[in-house]
Amino acid sequence: METSTLSEKGVRNYIDGQLTDHQGNFQDLISPLNGQRISQVPLSAQTALDDAVAAARKAFPGWSGMTMKERVQIFFEYRYLLNKHQEELTYLVHLENGKTLDEAAAEVAKSIELTEFACSLPQIVTGEVMEVSKGVECRTERKPLGVVASITPFNFPNMVPNWTIPNALVLGNCMIMKPSEKVPLSVERLAHILTEAGLPNGVFNVVNGDKDIVDAICNHPYIEAVSFVGSTKIAQIVYQKATHSLKRCVALGGAKNHLLVLPDAQISMTASNIAASMTGCAGQRCMAASAMVGVGAVEPIIDALCHEVRKIIPGENLGAVISLEAKQRIEGYITEAEALGAKILVDGRNPQVAGKEGGYYVGPTVIDFVTPDMAIAQEEVFGPVIAIMRAGSLDEAIEIENGSNYGNAASVFTQNGAWAKEVMDRPTAGMVGVNIGVPVPREPFSFGGWNESKFGVSDITGKSSVEFWTQLKKTTTKWNPEARINWMS
Ligand code: NAD
Repeated sequence: METSTLSEKGVRNYIDGQLTDHQGNFQDLISPLNGQRISQVPLSAQTALDDAVAAARKAFPGWSGMTMKERVQIFFEYRYLLNKHQEELTYLVHLENGKTLDEAAAEVAKSIELTEFACSLPQIVTGEVMEVSKGVECRTERKPLGVVASITPFNFPNMVPNWTIPNALVLGNCMIMKPSEKVPLSVERLAHILTEAGLPNGVFNVVNGDKDIVDAICNHPYIEAVSFVGSTKIAQIVYQKATHSLKRCVALGGAKNHLLVLPDAQISMTASNIAASMTGCAGQRCMAASAMVGVGAVEPIIDALCHEVRKIIPGENLGAVISLEAKQRIEGYITEAEALGAKILVDGRNPQVAGKEGGYYVGPTVIDFVTPDMAIAQEEVFGPVIAIMRAGSLDEAIEIENGSNYGNAASVFTQNGAWAKEVMDRPTAGMVGVNIGVPVPREPFSFGGWNESKFGVSDITGKSSVEFWTQLKKTTTKWNPEARINWMS
């Protein structure tokens, strides 16, 4: 499919409603599907950020001065346009990220759901009013912060930007978006769609780049808040830098998600859920199953899992991983675990993918008898790999889960309500599932992990994000001049 985004000039920044040319360094944009260069991405300098912030500051009074019900009209149109351009947006995600077309389409569908939630904000974000003494009223209202920034990762080029765009903007903020330099095409297209939907110039701006532009965002005196999604290492850095410059920040990091499989689990449902969770988006989901802890006699479930996993074929129903470096890292974890005594039940290293030899593919991999001290049990692999550990009891399995520094997701597979409740209560993860492979809370529930999977107070989506993107104005009024003044009024 041809797309309007792949212009000869490469990707461009989007500032004040216009594409802007970049004088300076570019980085090649490579499609993971075949290893081919498809475009180039500007590595912007501070001046581009300054221009974007100036445009956003100029737009802010007009945008924040509209009522939320007026602002939301533009997002009804945005939703319509996401739907209308769904095929093109899907293709862009597939091309730049390497996931399958079905997965890319699901991502765009999720962006539509996120926009629908934002369209409901006027029904949710109502203030409070109370007569606190005779003739004296207190009221609260949620007010926007001003210019805010959103920094996003490679694994969901369309959906993760839409975790922040609709909510932050409907709530009256103006935004600077810094997409991952590995997947900038989707956001460039979203910027056009927002303008087509009627968003005033300057309300949404895109500045491409890498570490330098992220540092500049964290230090910028006129950016009030930074939302970040990416690896834990960078989330920590961004959280520290942004809060050091007195900005509010929520920074979502990496994950190591545990599935606790009890011997009474329903075999085929458990096996197909685990297979889908570990291989969906080639394992490059922060909610992907990465470690399975089998309690007791779970061999029939492991056999069924291997059977399911063998149906998942790289280049057919399994997408590519983002880069050659990622492929080598993932395969390195498998090789190291094998050398340490783990048993490879399904080996996805170096698959042959006919017609896509240049692509970065790793086949689904199931590894048994991993021990909790191995790197593959502790670290985020971010590939279609499951490391199976064995536990003698539910307590031991929960201890293994609790031993992780991460805390995004944990799930249990069982038919026993009491055991399920133990796992709902005791894992140190922000998002827990019972008989669910990918326990993503859907709108209006919010998304966010615990421990080193998230730094900051609120979650990034749903109702919780309202607090992050707004500040509370408290107003006290008195309309009875005859009433005496006391120390509280
Ligand atoms: P990443 O941390 O490498 O990059 C994320 C963003 O940070 C990008 O925009 C990148 O340009 C920027 N960046 C990279 N290095 C930087 C540096 N040294 N200083 C400042 N900024 C820098 O993450 P990624 O590889 O793009 O994405 C994958 C990671 O994101 C995984 O760890 C995954 O678990 C995580 N993730 C988490 C969630 C969540 O909800 N917790 C969701 C999606 C992805």
